[in-house]
Amino acid sequence: MKLQYLGTAAAEALPALFCNCATCTTARARGGKNIRGRSGMVLDGSLMIDFPPDIYMHSLNLGLNLNHIQDIIVTHSHMDHFDALELTTASPDYYAHNGENSHPIHVYGNGNVGRALQAGILGEFGHPVDFLPYHRVWAYRPFAVQDFTVTALPALHALGDATEDAFIYLIQKAGKSLLYANDTGIFYDDVFEYLKKVGVKLDMVSFDCTFGTLPDGKNHMGLPDNLVVQRRLEEQRSAGVNTRYVVTHFSHNCGSCHEELVEAAAQYGYTVAYDGMCWEI
Ligand SMILES: [Zn+2]
Ligand SMILES: [Zn+2]
Ligand SMILES: [Zn+2]
Repeated sequence: MKLQYLGTAAAEALPALFCNCATCTTARARGGKNIRGRSGMVLDGSLMIDFPPDIYMHSLNLGLNLNHIQDIIVTHSHMDHFDALELTTASPDYYAHNGENSHPIHVYGNGNVGRALQAGILGEFGHPVDFLPYHRVWAYRPFAVQDFTVTALPALHALGDATEDAFIYLIQKAGKSLLYANDTGIFYDDVFEYLKKVGVKLDMVSFDCTFGTLPDGKNHMGLPDNLVVQRRLEEQRSAGVNTRYVVTHFSHNCGSCHEELVEAAAQYGYTVAYDGMCWEI
């Protein structure tokens, strides 16, 4: 599996749009890996996780051909993860002229994602469309997407709409397993149990690290929370010496810029993601 991070920031981006705190000011001055858009990932060039509001600039900066994306699996409907209105630019009638390479883009997500997609489509076109088919996702029910097997697991993420069943995703292909784990606090016991029951050996865990060096564990995580999850995964043998950990989804509220995060994460043996970072498992 070839992976590429789109953005690596929390909801407000980093530096945050309207913010002039010390972290954002330093990030602006340093530039480079300190400039983080909203989060997402592309797998093998054809499967996307989330559709963030910065997708347009991500596609330009990373040289992505978005017409190669066949499917989008969405973690939850928060604005930094799913920009339904932007997705309507995939319309073959008006905005996306791809001739015989034109194809629908399938969207997978919870009920809120389905409603947001429908509202975006109706807001833009005033009628339903057939180029963005929606598929309801349920926790613990694996489904096939291209050559991937995708399993949604409940995230601990009660921010905003407390009723939203946000997901983290176990994504498997050709014997390799990725756990894409933001936005979430320390996993529910049932999630650990499920991973143990199915006997998965994780090759990579992409961890929510919204709080950087600081602990949270409730709706998001910081490095100390990541360590709690890592230890538990290792105890139950869902992870081991071959598991690689990458941290992402940083907020300016963590008070650290990229260089400081790299130094702190190194003590845990984790890699700090940056926008456009590629990885292979
Ligand atoms: Zn988020
Ligand atoms: Zn700030
Ligand atoms: Zn969220």
